[in-house]
Amino acid sequence: MAVHLEQALAKLKTTGVRMTPQRHAILSFLLDSMTHPTADDIYKSLESKFPNMSVATVYNNLKVFIESGLVRELTYGDSSSRFDADMTDHYHAVCESCGKIADFEYPPLHDIENTAAGQTGFQVSGYRLEVYGVCPDCTGITKH
Ligand code: ZN
Ligand code: MN
Repeated sequence: MAVHLEQALAKLKTTGVRMTPQRHAILSFLLDSMTHPTADDIYKSLESKFPNMSVATVYNNLKVFIESGLVRELTYGDSSSRFDADMTDHYHAVCESCGKIADFEYPPLHDIENTAAGQTGFQVSGYRLEVYGVCPDCTGITKH
């Protein structure tokens, strides 16, 4: 599901976050890229355009987007968090070879939440589900 930059910018406006050229570039890069880049990937793609920008700047701007509900962070227990500007319900397939993450659609699994709540007594707020494998680029099989 493609999220458009204009929609994202409109939403950002309602949160009162100031739009800077760097933020604009980071957000459009995230919306354009289908691979769920790391802060470092974003930095490397934009550093020629913004020579004064550091990875820390990229990360701080991403934090602002996350707090505004425009971007979600996919953490993997280390510094290699990946970022997703598609806030619609969807799932992820993670490539174990190159780390790329692809989106796929599947109906929400409310049953998992209910079962978990029933068995653990938790007030369940959500769940995270990913499938793992090797992407078409890494297997060399191209989709036609
Ligand atoms: Zn791959
Ligand atoms: Mn995604």
